[in-house]
Amino acid sequence: MRNQADSLLGTVVENHGAVFDVLLDDRIVRCILRGRLKKDKRRTVAPVAAGDRVHVSLLERDRGVIEQVLPRTAELARSAAGSEPLQQTLAANVDQAVIVFAAAEPRPDFYLLDRFLVVATAAGLRRVVCINKCDLVPLDGLSQQVSCYAGVSDDLLYTSALRGIGTAELAELLKDRRSVICGPSGVGKSSLLNAIAPGLALRTGAIGEVTHKGRHTTSSITYLQLPFGGWVADTPGLRQLGFWEVAPEDVAAAFPDLEPYLGRCRFPNCSHRGDEGCALTAAAGAGEVDPRRLRSFLQLGGR
Ligand code: GDP
Ligand code: ZN
Repeated sequence: MRNQADSLLGTVVENHGAVFDVLLDDRIVRCILRGRLKKDKRRTVAPVAAGDRVHVSLLERDRGVIEQVLPRTAELARSAAGSEPLQQTLAANVDQAVIVFAAAEPRPDFYLLDRFLVVATAAGLRRVVCINKCDLVPLDGLSQQVSCYAGVSDDLLYTSALRGIGTAELAELLKDRRSVICGPSGVGKSSLLNAIAPGLALRTGAIGEVTHKGRHTTSSITYLQLPFGGWVADTPGLRQLGFWEVAPEDVAAAFPDLEPYLGRCRFPNCSHRGDEGCALTAAAGAGEVDPRRLRSFLQLGGR
């Protein structure tokens, strides 16, 4: 094994299946993994993800081998689709998840938004909910559906990448933080990043996610350095976000709006689906909690 002194510390910026781009100071080095790293004990799609800090030994100026992956401070992960469950880390060493949905085109799927919030909350990340394309719908109708997220996330933003609305606030939230930006495809993630940091010049306008067949969906996740400090891992449109190691308590933690009513039903095995003496059903009926949020909670396995 090589001496650690020979190796250089860098950050993984992109994952191309078995090959990884690593940022070393100011250049990108294309790396493969040292064989023993592939024998990861955890059941993962890949032992290395965008945002990982790694030791690299150089083969040439722009080619190398990842020798070691430093322990992660946090990660955003999902369960990869397939017959046997595997963990897929979307981004490593992040502090914050920016969850982007569109006010329209595509119509927001609030159940999926709630699912993103559960995963980000379980990962211990700061959570920003960003509702983009606000130019397309009247704000009062929208805020009725969305305002519950003000109390549920750390920040709720209404933006329009097209009109430059809310983009300065988003930049402020990204500054000096390590963020992962996620959400379905076509909601304007790339457009927002381009609006706040034009130098990134990301491709936009992709209609629908490119569908990759098979389990190892390696639609790549890119790590981008922001010119004003901080970085963002830009994920491709995620249509699915299977839970990986998410417990019912994690679900409850993402529903602080329901929390005051949990454990207050008459029967301990209450299904919260209209049972007699159910505190949650009563609260939804009285307009104290949003019935849609309660449906999400139950669908996501909350108890
Ligand atoms: P991504 O897949 O989430 O990265 O979405 P893109 O940034 O590629 O945007 C998808 C489409 O929505 C493109 O045609 C954009 O021009 C459009 N778009 C992005 N942001 C806005 C917005 O704020 N308002 C409107 N009306 N369209 C937008
Ligand atoms: Zn109940």
